[in-house]
This record gives sequence, C-alpha cells and structure tokens, in this order.
Amino acid sequence: MQVLVIGAGVVGLAVARAAARKGHEVVVAEAEAGIGTGISSRNSEVIHGGMYYATGTLRGRHCVRGRRMLYEFCASHGVPHRKCGKLVVATNAAELDKIGQIEKQGHINGVEGLELIGANAARALEPELSCIGALHSPETGIIDSHRYMLALRGDLEDAGGAIALNTPVIGAARKGGQWQVAFGGRDGGEFAFDAMVNCAGLGAQAVARAMQDYPPTRVPRLVLAKGNYFTFAGKPAFARLIYPTPIVGGLGVHVTLDLAGRMRFGPDVEWIERENYEVDPARAALFYARIRTYWPGLPDGSLAPDYSGIRPKLTGPGEPQADFLIDMPAQHGLPGLVQMFGIESPGLTSSLSLGEEVAGYLAS
Ligand SMILES: Cc1cc2nc3c(=O)[nH]c(=O)nc-3n(C[C@H](O)[C@H](O)[C@H](O)COP(=O)(O)OP(=O)(O)OC[C@H]3O[C@@H](n4cnc5c(N)ncnc54)[C@H](O)[C@@H]3O)c2cc1C
Repeated sequence: MQVLVIGAGVVGLAVARAAARKGHEVVVAEAEAGIGTGISSRNSEVIHGGMYYATGTLRGRHCVRGRRMLYEFCASHGVPHRKCGKLVVATNAAELDKIGQIEKQGHINGVEGLELIGANAARALEPELSCIGALHSPETGIIDSHRYMLALRGDLEDAGGAIALNTPVIGAARKGGQWQVAFGGRDGGEFAFDAMVNCAGLGAQAVARAMQDYPPTRVPRLVLAKGNYFTFAGKPAFARLIYPTPIVGGLGVHVTLDLAGRMRFGPDVEWIERENYEVDPARAALFYARIRTYWPGLPDGSLAPDYSGIRPKLTGPGEPQADFLIDMPAQHGLPGLVQMFGIESPGLTSSLSLGEEVAGYLAS
C-alpha cells in the first residue's frame, strides 16, 4: 500500500518506520523544514518506567512495552541513552500514601524493579535529598531524542520510505477507493494514497478537520498545557532523576538530567490558549518553592529560564486525565485512516510500541 504519515515527530517517524518495514511504500509529510521540531524536541527526554498509568490504558500498555523496545533500539542503533533510574519522593504522610499507590499500579502495569525505600536508603542514594520515603524505579532513563529520531529516519529510508519537508497537509478526501490528499508548500499539489496516519501532534485536530469525510464530531478538543523548564547553573546535585509525587496535569517539577550531566527542572503546568514558547522568569519563584520541598539546599539565584514544551491534552484543568486517543478504521469506518490525538507524555517512551501497533491497523 502507499501510505502517507502526517508529521515527522517521534510518533510519525516510528509509525512510518514500522509501516515501511512491513513492506508498504511510505511517505512522511512534514510541515516544517526539519524533522522533530515540534513536541518531540521540547520534552524531558525521559524513558519512563510506566507506573503512573491506570490499568487498561493505552498509555500504560504502550509505555511499558515501548520502554523495553526503546532500550533495545538504543542498544542496536547506537542511540545515546542512560538507564540512570529515578526516585519519586514523598515529603509528607499523604505523599507517602500516594507513592505506595503508584508502586501498586506499577506492579499491575508490569514495571520491573520498583521498590519503596525509607528516608535513609533514599539519602544513601542521593545525599542532598530531603524526604520521608521514596519509590525507586531502576528502569527509568534518559535518551538523546534527536539522535533517536535520526535513527528512526535512517531505518525508514533503508526500508524505502521518504520524508517530504516543508510539505503541510491541507486537506484530504476519499475518491475512487483512495485518499486524495492536498499538500501546501512550494511543491504542493494533490496525490493519492491507500492509507493515511495523522501524527500531527498539536496540529492533529486541525488536520482531522481538514479531512472531508471524517466526521467533525469525532475530532476531540485540544487543550494546551505548557510545561516550562529552568536550568540549574552549577554542579548537578543528583545522579538520578528526582520526581515529587505527581500533581494535576503533570508529573510535578522534577529534576531531569541530560546526557552531558547537566541538571534542569521542570516541566510545570501552565494552561494556555495559544501556542507560545516563552518562559516567564517570574515563574522561578514557584520553582524554588516546589524544588525546596525535596531539595532544601537549592541555592538562591541558581535557576535561569530554559525552554518550554506544550502538551496536546484532550482534557482541561480539574478534569480526569485523558488517555491517548487512536481512532482507527474499525471504529470510524473509513478504510486506511488512523487518527492519533492527545499523544502527550509518555509519547516518546511509547513511540516504538505505538508505531508497531498503528502500522498493523493500516490494512484494515
Ligand atoms: C513538556 C513535555 C515534556 C515531556 N516529557 C516527556 C518525557 O520525558 N518522556 C516521554 O516519553 N514523553 C514526554 N513528553 C511527550 C512527548 O514529547 C510527546 O508525546 C511526543 O514528542 C509527541 O510526538 P508527536 O510525533 O506526536 O508530535 P510532534 O513531535 O509535535 O510531531 C508532530 C509533527 O507534525 C507536524 N505537523 C503539524 N501539522 C502538520 C500538517 N498539517 N502537515 C504536516 N505536518 C504537520 C509538526 O510540524 C510536527 O513536526 C513530553 C511532552 C511535553 C510537552
């Protein structure tokens, strides 16, 4: 089949790679001038363990399976990564209860190696930490997401696939048993495909609305939840990722490390109406307060605004967390069309698992 994948983020590239390796002729259309310039280049680059997500959710299943696949992929493709482990810390009795629940959920989800440890054991691992207990996840790690996307692109091209940059999808309609797709950009025009996967991230709802035959009532609402990061100017205080107990809308302002050993903090949750990526320096005050609950030694004046990313959420503040939404032919009845909405965290970790599963829906 001739397959069009819309969007060259980590999810689109993983879907395209899997489809090309199944023998399909695959083209990825990307609106921007390069791959991975959207959500995929604005995240924490954490390979998540998979313990937070409720039983039976796509996020839970794909995170755990995707993590295992991702570590294997990194090893076989030379993608820089480090299984550094993480501590989810509790600083009061309610949080202790919460990390206990996370540990139970993790076991249900099949996460390996989880262990609840006391304050002394946590401090033996991370001497700067202040907590009354912690959940240790040895399977959590970090990855160079750009090198990962380049490796996905390499596999895609080796399997005969191609990426068209500066090529936004502006419309599509079902004609003569195929998808007639309209492209903008300098080399725009109309081309026909047998199947089509919408992996446009923050643009997924707009792309779905531009498809004539896809019922607008099936397009979920898009809620933007920005996550801001601050860098730490100084020697990293921790060797592992340190997370507070989760907050509504995100995992809390956590310590992330990059592969060069630098330490940064974030992301917080800022509900916004329109895409913008500025980091307001005034938010630092909140960061200091939150970080000092588990790292009292954070020096004054050590945080500087860094980058931000936007979560493509399907529900807003105060509403229950939505799962990934994958609308496939068996559900909407249009042959060869898969729509992917709300692929927020842990989309990077889940990408290989999502890619393999979605490529399997194309023949239906
Ligand atoms: C703050 C933050 C932190 C995160 N941290 C983590 C983490 O640590 N670990 C983890 O596993 N996940 C994390 N995630 C989630 C993860 O980053 C995303 O799930 C993943 O990157 C989504 O990839 P994507 O390919 O769906 O989207 P994108 O990377 O945004 O790709 C979509 C692409 O579609 C293109 N596009 C849009 N419209 C069109 C169109 N009309 N035609 C053609 N192309 C189009 C865009 O230009 C873009 O390149 C985080 C997310 C955020 C926001």
